Amino acid sequence: GAELGFTEHLFKVLVIGDHKVGKTSFVKRYVKNQFYEELKTTIGVDFSMKVIDWDSHTRVRLQLWDIAGQERLRGLNRVFFKRSSGALVVYDMTNGSTLDGALNWKHELDSQVMLKNGRPIPAVLLANKCDETKVCRRNASLLEKLCQEKGFIGWFQTSAKENINVDEAAKFLVKHILQNN
Ligand code: GDP
Ligand code: MG
Repeated sequence: GAELGFTEHLFKVLVIGDHKVGKTSFVKRYVKNQFYEELKTTIGVDFSMKVIDWDSHTRVRLQLWDIAGQERLRGLNRVFFKRSSGALVVYDMTNGSTLDGALNWKHELDSQVMLKNGRPIPAVLLANKCDETKVCRRNASLLEKLCQEKGFIGWFQTSAKENINVDEAAKFLVKHILQNN
């Protein structure tokens, strides 16, 4: 019948990175298409759900785990990482040290969770706040190289504020997650 071959997936996606890089803003933009200049920092993990009608026979429910106020990794345990299907690793283009932070997060991610075949779960590097500054060509090739070295599936410059590449980056991640399922 018509139901035949319809698949619904539920994927847990982690949104990680240093404090104030724009994780919550990215999620709010992606899920609600809203942006707030002032956001309260909450302690713990914020959960959001995004439903994507991927194609006529596939629906994806993305459960986004936005780490809040525990960006120093302390107090985080395996439960946070457990059974996650993918990750958005965010840094702030206007604050170089947050790129180091993002790489530390990627390292932690890979040490905590992997695919059944032992490969790292798909992770996308997000260079957020691109409305404030642009990735020059030289930095683009550096980021490209960094992604290959650190095992990111790709990177995007994004702006939660101006809604640049938010859907595109998420879609890219989901495409890779679906290939593993
Ligand atoms: P989090 O701690 O990583 O969750 O970061 P927030 O989402 O709370 O954002 C921290 C600050 O950066 C807030 O003042 C946001 O308004 C601001 N912010 C977030 N995303 C962007 C962006 O894309 N562009 C600009 N200009 N500011 C942003
Ligand atoms: Mg936050």
